[in-house]
Amino acid sequence: MPIPLDSRKKPTAVKVHVKSGAGVDVTWADGHVSHYDFHYLREECPCATCNDERGKKEAFAATAAPGSSAFPVLPMFKPKPRAEAATVVGNYAVQISFTDGHSTGIFSYDHLRTICPCAECAKAFRTAAP
Ligand SMILES: [Zn+2]
Ligand SMILES: [Zn+2]
Repeated sequence: MPIPLDSRKKPTAVKVHVKSGAGVDVTWADGHVSHYDFHYLREECPCATCNDERGKKEAFAATAAPGSSAFPVLPMFKPKPRAEAATVVGNYAVQISFTDGHSTGIFSYDHLRTICPCAECAKAFRTAAP
């Protein structure tokens, strides 16, 4: 039995605008079109390292008191990462190398649809109770 594939998570067209830095455009089998900026994808990178970092940041935010001298709040200026290169992995994912040197993030289409920044997908994929 083939695994039924959710048409909402099946891309019909994937465009990665590495040179222009415009981000990623995906057209899905259900007709939906998603646009992702590279810095957004960098933040949502699903690799183990980034998952770890996000976890630490959350823990830090939970423990550090606002204005605490032990944890001075520094303005964190970082240039927004862009994509240096993108590779299609099989027919299930896109791997993106970012300008900050990070390249272990493999964005499966399943994950991409789930993190689609539009309100419609936020409602469909990110509010459902587990
Ligand atoms: Zn990562
Ligand atoms: Zn969407």
